[in-house]
Amino acid sequence: MKFIFGPVASRRFGTSLGIDLSPGKKQCNFDCLYCELAPALTVNKQSETYPASDILKELKNSLIEHPNSDVITLTANGEPTLYPYLDELIIGINDIKENRETLILTNSATLNNKQTYQSLLKLNQVKLSLDAVTADVFKKIDRPYADINLNKIIDSVITFSNEFTGKLFIEILFVRGINDTKEEINALNKVLKELKCQRIDLGTIDRPPAYPIEGLSYNQLFEISHMFDANLPIHIASRKNIQTEPSNYSNEEIINTLDKRPLTQDDVTILFNKSSIKRLHQLIQKEEVRIKHIANLDFYMPSANISRKKVK
Ligand code: SF4
Repeated sequence: MKFIFGPVASRRFGTSLGIDLSPGKKQCNFDCLYCELAPALTVNKQSETYPASDILKELKNSLIEHPNSDVITLTANGEPTLYPYLDELIIGINDIKENRETLILTNSATLNNKQTYQSLLKLNQVKLSLDAVTADVFKKIDRPYADINLNKIIDSVITFSNEFTGKLFIEILFVRGINDTKEEINALNKVLKELKCQRIDLGTIDRPPAYPIEGLSYNQLFEISHMFDANLPIHIASRKNIQTEPSNYSNEEIINTLDKRPLTQDDVTILFNKSSIKRLHQLIQKEEVRIKHIANLDFYMPSANISRKKVK
């Protein structure tokens, strides 16, 4: 099984080697409207799982191949904190990461689980999503597993933000007509003022979503950013400000990386060196990679991924 992907230049987190903790299928306790993955029934635990030792073995090899990555990112086809051996894995990564940072991208829903909470404290960076803080809007946008309680999530996020000594990022992803109302933004603002975090990223849909929804324009995000308290570390997530050196990708790495994250021409220009771009074009000629036009942007995607998305 292939757990490691990248390196990818994250718009916000630097050059990152990703670890997919659910490489076989989507396993998530949310079914967000904006998810890049196909819609799926929500779950509260993983049914398909792998030993931490297998992941660590593959990571060791990737760290030798890609010594310049500066972040190791725990993510998943779904929610990474559902991985049952998360604590063992984080301890193992901390043993081999050297001067790299560790990061997890989580939807925050399991943060009220004591074990998850303690495991996340062992990381250098944590990104917690918080798309909505009123029950109706939360249910509409994130479509959570039945027993998930929004108030418990909010309480845990506030407590965690006060205890965590690493870098904490909050992400709010806006969907037009769902969580971009004045009422929801005021409610979010109230909660955010109780948090201690490095940055609050305001984002919107910039990759093919699971459901037919619309994102906001940069100008709309800019307007929303002014509706939050001026003291909050609000940041409009954008493709600008990426600083990374182009890397060499094998054919397999190109397919694997595009499978995890469709890339635009801008991304490719930033990430791929000349010979990798040549290999990408050969893959397009062989129809192993295709270009899909979505929301004014062209995305490179593996053909297999496009067919999967059509099934959704
Ligand atoms: S966006 Fe993340 S949290 Fe939401 S359904 Fe997809 S994988 Fe799960």
